[in-house]
Amino acid sequence: MKAKWTDCIIIGAGLAGLAAAHQLSTHMEVTLISKTHIGKGNSVLAQGGIAAALHKEDYAKQHAADTLNAGGYHHNQKRVEDMTASSGAVIRWLEQLGVSFTKFPDGTFCLSKEGAHQYPRIAHTSKDGTGSSIMQVLTANLPETVICKEGETAFQIHTQGRHCTGVSTVSTYGEVHTYSASAVVLATGGSGQLYTWTSNSDEATGEGYMLAYDAGAELCDLEFVQFHPTIASGAGCKGMLLTEALRGDGAQLVDGEGELLISPLMGGSLAGRDVTARAVEVADQQGKSPALDISEVKDLVGRYPNIYKKLTKDGAALKQTPIPVRAGAHYMMGGVVVDEAMETSVAGLFAIGETAYTGVHGANRLASNSLLEAVAFIPTLVTRVCEVVNNDKSKQAAIQTYDLPMDSPLSATVIGRFMQCYAGPLRSRQKLELLSTRLTAPSEERKKVRPARKEIEAAFQYRLARLMCESMQARKSSLGAHALQGDVEDRDNSYWLVHTRGEKLTAEHKPPIARRLANEYV
Ligand SMILES: Cc1cc2nc3c(=O)[nH]c(=O)nc-3n(C[C@H](O)[C@H](O)[C@H](O)COP(=O)(O)OP(=O)(O)OC[C@H]3O[C@@H](n4cnc5c(N)ncnc54)[C@H](O)[C@@H]3O)c2cc1C
Repeated sequence: MKAKWTDCIIIGAGLAGLAAAHQLSTHMEVTLISKTHIGKGNSVLAQGGIAAALHKEDYAKQHAADTLNAGGYHHNQKRVEDMTASSGAVIRWLEQLGVSFTKFPDGTFCLSKEGAHQYPRIAHTSKDGTGSSIMQVLTANLPETVICKEGETAFQIHTQGRHCTGVSTVSTYGEVHTYSASAVVLATGGSGQLYTWTSNSDEATGEGYMLAYDAGAELCDLEFVQFHPTIASGAGCKGMLLTEALRGDGAQLVDGEGELLISPLMGGSLAGRDVTARAVEVADQQGKSPALDISEVKDLVGRYPNIYKKLTKDGAALKQTPIPVRAGAHYMMGGVVVDEAMETSVAGLFAIGETAYTGVHGANRLASNSLLEAVAFIPTLVTRVCEVVNNDKSKQAAIQTYDLPMDSPLSATVIGRFMQCYAGPLRSRQKLELLSTRLTAPSEERKKVRPARKEIEAAFQYRLARLMCESMQARKSSLGAHALQGDVEDRDNSYWLVHTRGEKLTAEHKPPIARRLANEYV
């Protein structure tokens, strides 16, 4: 099939993809591909805001320390420092584009506090729809030179040797399109839809990880799935995320009797997400009806109008009644391994945003660091992509033959049920063994999928679930969001700083955390 030529292809049009399109398009021709509408995905759903050390007593090193502390020090510390140091520049860039963050009359930022942050640090727009405000601005101001392809699902990255040469997609009408490019950027977001209970958008089905894997790139730490503790489970508002900022404003996690789920000595309702999600999961399993008590939140209507509207719609829980909650899949800390320029181990193939593994989230992401990450590393990406494009002398559309993936023996619904049941916030070796058995393909013959989005998604979800299961089994002790029953409090540290690559555990890329930590943070 004769491919179309473009300098750079970005797959995914959430915050990371749009930020990259804005900054790359001044240097080259960019084609932006999205399986639904431009701007749809997880970014637009973000309620809380974006973490930045803007408080007068706060500073980037403190933000870095909180990030490391929340994630079990299982990070690439250099990248954490780079990201937190750039938060001011990220906020300025968004403001220059037209994002209007909430400020006090004296011009200082109005900042919320979220779990495991030592300071109020979450910059937000006037209401509880910061993601939506940011995405509106980025979409409305997208440079006209960016070629947008909506409704196309990428299913194959093309390579020649260890070089990326293009991508094939399928449209909503079942047509296959093939593109050649000097550089391809994966910005396909996360994989929360692998679980039945999730905060994630329909688009978050995890193809980016498998596209990279099939092209020969490395994946890392796929066992670290962050669960969010407060996904509403009551009638009328089922599945709605209740932002952590509510707890920063006084909401409490309680059981059916109104007792606090987590003692203040253990960080209370603002403990790290791994701790709060596990507490909610345990309460749920014990039939203790976990809930979020929002009765103490001031100005619920003014600060959280969208949440308030949804809570009061259809007779759903009102402010006086604790809102029943469950823990659900929220964020993938693992991902496609990239270097400092966001390039994968396949030359010319890049990954950004939630798809990338930069090592900034460790074993448990600090709240509101992901919108920051989605933008923070774009300048280094731009520098490297420019080099790749300028050094590519061929710049011609190549003939690319595509290959549709094998179908999944299990439906996406069944995969979700298995993952929820056996690979949730509290795992065990037995549960993971059962998951592995359940996910083993029956021996009957499988065939290639038809060129249709849902079939392609299920095919990739099935294989990703298996890789995640292998990673979970390989990590034999609890760390951050990977919690094994009976091992959480008394963990075996031999797996700390050891990263999983597929079914293998490897101690490569060991960051020099402990040494520097002693000097700078303790
Ligand atoms: C409900 C909710 C609230 C959140 N709140 C916050 C918050 O307050 N602060 C914070 O920092 N983080 C928050 N997060 C996390 C954060 O929103 C995401 O991690 C981040 O926005 C990811 O951005 P992204 O650009 O990588 O992916 P996304 O925004 O998810 O975009 C992915 C894009 O890839 C496209 N795509 C996917 N697969 C394919 C394919 N095969 N072919 C073509 N296109 C494809 C999608 O259509 C979409 O355009 C929240 C997440 C959720 C779900």
